[in-house]
Amino acid sequence: MRIQPHNLRTPGPTPIPDEIYEAMSDPMINHRGPEFFELITECTAMLKQVFMTDNDLFILTSSGTGGLEASVVNTLSPGDRVLAASAGSFGDRFADMLDAYGVDTQRITFEWGEPIDPEAIRRALRDDPEFKAVIVTHNETSTGVTHDLQSISSVVKGEFGKLLIVDAVSSLGCVPLPVDGWDCDVVATGSQKGFMIPPGLAFISFSNEAWEAQQSSTLPRFYFDLEEAKKYLERKQTPWTPNLSAMYGLRVALENILEEGLEGVFGRHASIGQFTRDGVRALGLELLCADEARASNTVTAIKMPAHIDGEQMMELMRTEENVVLAGGQGKLTGHIFRIGHLGYVTEDHIQEVLDALGRVLPRVGF
Ligand SMILES: *Cc1c(COP(=O)(O)O)cnc(C)c1O
Repeated sequence: MRIQPHNLRTPGPTPIPDEIYEAMSDPMINHRGPEFFELITECTAMLKQVFMTDNDLFILTSSGTGGLEASVVNTLSPGDRVLAASAGSFGDRFADMLDAYGVDTQRITFEWGEPIDPEAIRRALRDDPEFKAVIVTHNETSTGVTHDLQSISSVVKGEFGKLLIVDAVSSLGCVPLPVDGWDCDVVATGSQKGFMIPPGLAFISFSNEAWEAQQSSTLPRFYFDLEEAKKYLERKQTPWTPNLSAMYGLRVALENILEEGLEGVFGRHASIGQFTRDGVRALGLELLCADEARASNTVTAIKMPAHIDGEQMMELMRTEENVVLAGGQGKLTGHIFRIGHLGYVTEDHIQEVLDALGRVLPRVGF
């Protein structure tokens, strides 16, 4: 059975333009041969432009979480004290990963739907000079909040000089994240959100300070060993067989992103984010994130109105309106639903969602 096209409005995977599907059906090549040398060289150079960085940058074959795992195992050692800022499901997951590796994780948590407070991070770092690193999620996909990474970095890097590790899976390539401008040591993202290609690739930037940390880091690593990745990249290769088809798509996606210009891409996400929030409010619904200045331009979380069966609502949206929305995660399950508006998305796509909600909500008692 073939999958029929629909309006996929989850915050990843996101829809893919036809031109990218076509590029991905190109024939397989030898990943130790000249076509690949050109492919990885071009993709890496363009990714550095999108990350706005001169740091090392690696393309890994994994989902975004693999990029996050690489950021941890290449910089930390068991028992290292790390501050994990979390205001949602993905922040918590990143902290869980640190726990799994035996890192001495200190969690600093905020209300789900609210932004991370840089002042609280300042206090935590002031109270305990032993912290080696801070991990933070730039855009909390589970709540639709974009945290103030610039201010967080000015505390973590500017005032305390700690290593700053960033989950940028649902922000990079959609909203501004100048990696060098904001002095972020390690930034990891995935392919299936803002980049308009399928799941299967992760991208990670790694600063000189991150390499210094790498020198003394003793966490076990093999598949995600960035020292290996660096050695191979010098020969225009990857240590292991890469996801070639996704990389064919990546090359086209990056060409398109750079042709549109980063400012154009950011502006488009900003206006579509605003369009979504305005439309949702016009339907009489309430946003989870009350702070308009920090509302995410890649995903909007909407409070499920009281007495509405959210599962039934989303099922009607899917079966009768051909619109696929995302539910809540963790403790927000059943309490919110989410509209993804990142990557390949137009106002028409969002208008379809709003129109469909306008028809479906009254049927479920709103
Ligand atoms: C989607 C997402 C992840 C997980 O990425 P996978 O590709 O599913 O591994 C991590 N962090 C954030 C913020 C995300 O949005």
